[in-house]
Amino acid sequence: MAALRTIIVAGAGIGGLTTSLALAKLGFRIIVLEKAEHLEEAGAGLQLSPNASRVLLDLGLGPRLSRAVTPDSICLMSARNGGEISRLPLDRINSAAGAPYLVIHRADLQTALREEVESRSNIELRLGCQFEDVSPHAKGLTVVQRSGTSRQEELAVALIGADGIWSTVRNHLLPDVQPLFSGLIAWRGTLDTKQLPREYTSRRVQLWMGPHAHLVAYPISAARQINVVAVVPGQWNRPGWSEPGDLNEIKSAFAAAGWHAIPRMLIGAVDGWRKWALFTLPNRGPWTGDGVALLGDAAHAMLPFAAQGAGMAIEDAAVLAKCIAARSDESPAGFSAALQSYGRVRRRRVKMVQRSARQAGRIYHLAGPLALARDLVIKAMGPQRMLARQNWIYDWRP
Ligand SMILES: Cc1cc2nc3c(=O)[nH]c(=O)nc-3n(C[C@H](O)[C@H](O)[C@H](O)COP(=O)(O)OP(=O)(O)OC[C@H]3O[C@@H](n4cnc5c(N)ncnc54)[C@H](O)[C@@H]3O)c2cc1C
Repeated sequence: MAALRTIIVAGAGIGGLTTSLALAKLGFRIIVLEKAEHLEEAGAGLQLSPNASRVLLDLGLGPRLSRAVTPDSICLMSARNGGEISRLPLDRINSAAGAPYLVIHRADLQTALREEVESRSNIELRLGCQFEDVSPHAKGLTVVQRSGTSRQEELAVALIGADGIWSTVRNHLLPDVQPLFSGLIAWRGTLDTKQLPREYTSRRVQLWMGPHAHLVAYPISAARQINVVAVVPGQWNRPGWSEPGDLNEIKSAFAAAGWHAIPRMLIGAVDGWRKWALFTLPNRGPWTGDGVALLGDAAHAMLPFAAQGAGMAIEDAAVLAKCIAARSDESPAGFSAALQSYGRVRRRRVKMVQRSARQAGRIYHLAGPLALARDLVIKAMGPQRMLARQNWIYDWRP
């Protein structure tokens, strides 16, 4: 009987921890397997639009998100002349959506989620413990996990693969679906707010668009730091999130492309660049099998240009919990049907967001006359119409 109340979540990233909280709320016993010995400080900023922040608030995370920053606007900036193309105010979005647009350090969000997880008696977080294998049978699933040299088996009714883009759970379900390199590299780093003149540290998201590259900067860590991400084409394509990057390489890429002094000043001020190659997953194969479902980057890793990578994982968690709550019966077959309905519901929306992210990347990186035309169109549309184009993302509810 206990197996029917146990759900195993592989991966304690943003998707896995949110899922464990959403499922624990339904009264299940949750075991979270995380292969890392410690939840890493690695990573930098994440944007959480109202569609995602709403889910976190509903899970009671609000008081733990004190280091998140609520930006007042998104500024679209020209890398050519340093001018502001448009300023999109976020206050109307926040009040219409009933949830805030937040920017937060990934480690702060993961800490908030982990602390909430640790406060729930029905969730057990096993660090240094990696998912290895799963086999379905009449009573549910046997999940094999490894911790150092020891292997352990656990009975469960469902396994949620929230183990990121290089997912082992997906390798069991869809061995042919492998990440594809996009030809783009994201460089990221932070700098102390005190290092910059005041006009560059206000509570706004800056999006600098230039030929074949873009740069995003916003405050994180209770506005004590500025997160800077620069996306450029490149060949280097090793997996991982935290490869040290050479300041001179990123500086010369932006100098050679004739970028304005302000974004170049931001680049020069970052201490300790890291880089990660941007991979995506082809949209093939079902995200679910007998008692197993993929979630977050394991299912649909996407380009980060719609700022929805973490948001989609958080949405997945809410929909998965809703589908499991609505299951027709308590049997393993009832759970498998609930997981399938989760896959169906999520697929369509995620596909639209993936497409939107790809389009955004192409638009940000336009060069020459096309870039001038882009800037003119943005100006002509005005901020309210530009923002209204995002309503379908921000107004989402589980
Ligand atoms: C260290 C790190 C730093 C990141 N930094 C940034 C950033 O700066 N900006 C940004 O936009 N995005 C970043 N991301 C990605 C971002 O967090 C995700 O795109 C998004 O939040 C979706 O999260 P996810 O939970 O699906 O996957 P992830 O956040 O990738 O989490 C997956 C988790 O699964 C664990 N795992 C993997 N294999 C196994 C296994 N076999 N068994 C158990 N556990 C396993 C991983 O250790 C990881 O903790 C980072 C991810 C990681 C892991």
